Amino acid sequence: MPKQRIMIIGGGLGGASLALGLLQRGFDVKVYEQAPALVEQGAGLTLPPNAMRVFKALGIWERVRDISVKQSGGAYVHYRTGEILRGVPDGDWVGKPATVEQLGHTHRGAIHLLLANAVREIAPDAFLVGHRLKSFEETDAGVIAEFENGERAEADILIGCDGLHSVAHKIMFGERQPRFTGVVAMRTMIPSELVQPFLSGGRFINYVGPTASFLRYGIMNATLINCVGLARTDKWRTEGWMNGSSRAEFLEIYGDFHPDVVGLIENAPENSFYKWALYDREPLATWSKGRATLLGDAAHPMLPFLGQGATTAIEDGLVLSRCLETYPDYSQAFAAYETARRERTAMIMRASRAEGEALAQPDPYQYANVSKGMGALGQYDAATAAI
Ligand SMILES: Cc1cc2nc3c(=O)[nH]c(=O)nc-3n(C[C@H](O)[C@H](O)[C@H](O)COP(=O)(O)OP(=O)(O)OC[C@H]3O[C@@H](n4cnc5c(N)ncnc54)[C@H](O)[C@@H]3O)c2cc1C
Repeated sequence: MPKQRIMIIGGGLGGASLALGLLQRGFDVKVYEQAPALVEQGAGLTLPPNAMRVFKALGIWERVRDISVKQSGGAYVHYRTGEILRGVPDGDWVGKPATVEQLGHTHRGAIHLLLANAVREIAPDAFLVGHRLKSFEETDAGVIAEFENGERAEADILIGCDGLHSVAHKIMFGERQPRFTGVVAMRTMIPSELVQPFLSGGRFINYVGPTASFLRYGIMNATLINCVGLARTDKWRTEGWMNGSSRAEFLEIYGDFHPDVVGLIENAPENSFYKWALYDREPLATWSKGRATLLGDAAHPMLPFLGQGATTAIEDGLVLSRCLETYPDYSQAFAAYETARRERTAMIMRASRAEGEALAQPDPYQYANVSKGMGALGQYDAATAAI
């Protein structure tokens, strides 16, 4: 029996993982990505064991390991004094995860390219860049999509993997009004050679303050220091990864932090400062409509406090490919996928929210008492979870 033709909208981490899982199962897959080219975008990314298990099932774990560094510890410290509030300093800057059971950190762009290359090894023409979805409609026989570049495409089913501001989502369920959390993520990535004197405290350290936190960790063989600050503010509200910020804006927030934090900011490259206002959305009651369903941020946007946004999208990709293989009828497959994934992702959305609250302690010494951390989230295996 010929396998279904599957149209994936958005070739980010979720779309690329799904494409790889489907191609490995013999489906006819096309990925329509709005970006004009696939280039390394983004900053540091957390890969807990539940992400590593998906990479193992997709046959690419060794490649992921080679561009990851394992977390051998890590300290949450008082924002001014550097006193340890929770954890132990991580002295290993370059060690690789030895097994899939170890959490790693890497560069989002590097994982994205790795996934896209694995897709192209099976189907060199599967990725179509420069295709931004404009609209789609369902016919008796399938779906027809129209792109901003004027092209049209047909398939049996459509999977919207087009991220936080998903067009597929809007077409299926209308516009949703998100709620501003009052927190802005402040990001910079610094070549480590520029900031050697300010790296005391090991590879992974999170400075917890009353109205802001500042996490920094080393990636890519300790050549890059990824920094993500979370700051309470109502001064600025634009969502999205690529909004420019400045050294002055960072120092306004972090000027009274530990001298290592101030040193990092003062020595970061001029054009490396970004900010991203965090919005929250309630979990959806359903992700599927007719011949279309949603995956990753398009279905369940995650606040980044537990670093599970990419991982849940990657898990979705493997579970949905397994469902489509197991249930030849797409509506049964979508129902099984939602049953397997909606409760878990809603629980992680709530846990991420709770961690955001814990990080906003007026008294940083209370952080360790309030935070529940990742708990048992990392034990999930998308390759064997019931579907
Ligand atoms: C540029 C960028 C950088 C990021 N950097 C980080 C980071 O450093 N650390 C981190 O933890 N998280 C980062 N994220 C978020 C994280 O990658 C996502 O939360 C996670 O990967 C969820 O995966 P996803 O596939 O659902 O969404 P995404 O990874 O966001 O992928 C969505 C994809 O859909 C494409 N797209 C959007 N609209 C359309 C459309 N209408 N038609 C066709 N294609 C469309 C986008 O270009 C993108 O490639 C970043 C996201 C982006 C887009």
